[in-house]
Amino acid sequence: MPLNFHFVADSGAAQGTSGFAQCDARFGNIRLGACPMWYLAYTFYPSANITAGGDLALSPNYSFSIGSPYNLYSVLLHESGHALGLGHSSVSGSVMPSTVKGGYTGLTADDDDGIQAIYEARQPGAYDARASNDTPGRRRRRSSRR
Ligand code: ZN
Repeated sequence: MPLNFHFVADSGAAQGTSGFAQCDARFGNIRLGACPMWYLAYTFYPSANITAGGDLALSPNYSFSIGSPYNLYSVLLHESGHALGLGHSSVSGSVMPSTVKGGYTGLTADDDDGIQAIYEARQPGAYDARASNDTPGRRRRRSSRR
């Protein structure tokens, strides 16, 4: 099953709103939010039963930054792993230890192996011909032709 990531509109419905666990037209499969808590973040594992599956939240009780001690990139990389179904790993250097160490620069072979064990290796699919993966810095432009 290939993974494709795209930004979608969000209705603002509360987390846990009843509906389709996947492809609900009111929000994306993975939602990012904030919730006051004593730990840095939490994430629901993907679910076929609840709309909150894949959702992740950061605690506004912490000041996240680019760098230490609460490296935003590292925390989001780790939590995104949970959103896609990865559990914690004991492999040194992995972005999925039980405690986020911070300072991650990218995925390791252990992280790649974990994702590929769940979703198989990425292969171009029909979806690639219809739209490219979105990034915050490179959004699709609407055609100027009329
Ligand atoms: Zn974790």
